Amino acid sequence: MDTVFTLQDLRDWNRPGTSLAVLGHPIKHSLSPAMHNAALAEMARADPRFADWRYHRFDILPDALPDALELLHRKKFLGLNLTVPHKTLAFDRVAGIDPAARPVGAINTLHWTPAGWRGHNTDGHGLAAAIRETLARELAGAPVVLLGAGGAARAAAVECLRRRCASLWIANRTRAHLDTLLAALRPLAAAGTIPLHGFDPAAPPADIPVAALVINATSAGLRDSDPAPFDLARLARRPAGVFDMIYNPPQTRLLAQAAALGLPAVNGLAMLVHQGVRALEIWTGQPPPIEPMRRAAGKIRQT
Ligand code: NDP
Repeated sequence: MDTVFTLQDLRDWNRPGTSLAVLGHPIKHSLSPAMHNAALAEMARADPRFADWRYHRFDILPDALPDALELLHRKKFLGLNLTVPHKTLAFDRVAGIDPAARPVGAINTLHWTPAGWRGHNTDGHGLAAAIRETLARELAGAPVVLLGAGGAARAAAVECLRRRCASLWIANRTRAHLDTLLAALRPLAAAGTIPLHGFDPAAPPADIPVAALVINATSAGLRDSDPAPFDLARLARRPAGVFDMIYNPPQTRLLAQAAALGLPAVNGLAMLVHQGVRALEIWTGQPPPIEPMRRAAGKIRQT
């Protein structure tokens, strides 16, 4: 079950049953196979239709993605997850895109159709569901401070605007990347007449409202040596809580500072679980059991 398959393995693929897979590079540490296989095992106990469903992992280099997608479609894999670096690369290589994923410009879930792959993005759903579950907050109606301007930040920003947050304040280390993101978001914000602002993380505007949700979508914190992406003490008004998309390590400098300030603070593990739940729902057509997915993700994190 832990085997890391390659493009060559795919060429020779003749496993019976319904196959699902995650593609990435690197992929060895992905939690997705354990999460999805745990849910499928439980679903099979209630419905024998799922008894031969398996979720695999493939190490696929960026250059090999077009060949891999074509082969996986021909071999009738029912569904795929995409992780770094494939989420944006695949966007122009699928037959159809879920309308909700279009403004994100990236897809993390593919569903087999006779005409080709249909692309979805479940990260925004995962974020909203995780914030509801762990911080008991809704994106709808909340002022949001978003850190980062990469792919995860874009998915988060689109979800905040789609759910009609009260206002969106985005900070990023590199101003040019922030400006590109703001330009992409402006039509969505204007359509909902939602205030949208960019700022330098070293100088947050004093008028960021009280009780904002702070969401870290930067990769600062993945390594122990990383600086915090933002100093929470610089906010003039107290935020409602801090959500860090990073889940490994389980506590970043940002989360440690939030805890020291007495703010509710959670890492990104619940987001990982909820984006996976949504993907499995797309492939199976029914809500999967979440507890085995949560247990599988939590167990591996500690090893
Ligand atoms: P990208 O590479 O697309 O973006 C990285 C972002 O982090 C950029 O905004 C970059 O800023 C910023 N950044 C990187 N290093 C630093 C630093 N030292 N200080 C300040 N800012 C920094 O990555 P993604 O958007 O794909 O992913 C971002 C994070 O979100 C990752 O940690 C990823 O693991 C996590 N994630 C978690 C998910 C979950 O389910 N929990 C789902 C998806 C992502 P700049 O523009 O200046 O380079």
